[in-house]
Amino acid sequence: MFFGKLKKAHGKVIINPNWCKGCGYCVKYCPTDVLEMSKGYNAKGYHPPQVKAAADCRDCKFCELICPEFAIYVTSDKEEEQASASA
Ligand code: SF4
Ligand code: SF4
Repeated sequence: MFFGKLKKAHGKVIINPNWCKGCGYCVKYCPTDVLEMSKGYNAKGYHPPQVKAAADCRDCKFCELICPEFAIYVTSDKEEEQASASA
């Protein structure tokens, strides 16, 4: 095929637990249910999120946008691949 193959976008979630205030927005609104609240506490006494399904992150960055504390961000892990020149 002329345009080659495209894999789904994939992101890597980075959490700064000590900036988190435990609101849970990132967990609740992640469309692919990548995150969960941890049982541990951060320095402020809140439960920060943790990644439970890293492979399911689609790099939509919604968690990054919705976090009121800038405690979470996502780096793109480009998996777009073009088919070999044999196409
Ligand atoms: S970037 Fe999107 S899919 Fe990945 S953890 Fe954040 S909200 Fe979920
Ligand atoms: S949205 Fe931000 S402040 Fe709220 S739980 Fe997630 S990381 Fe913590």
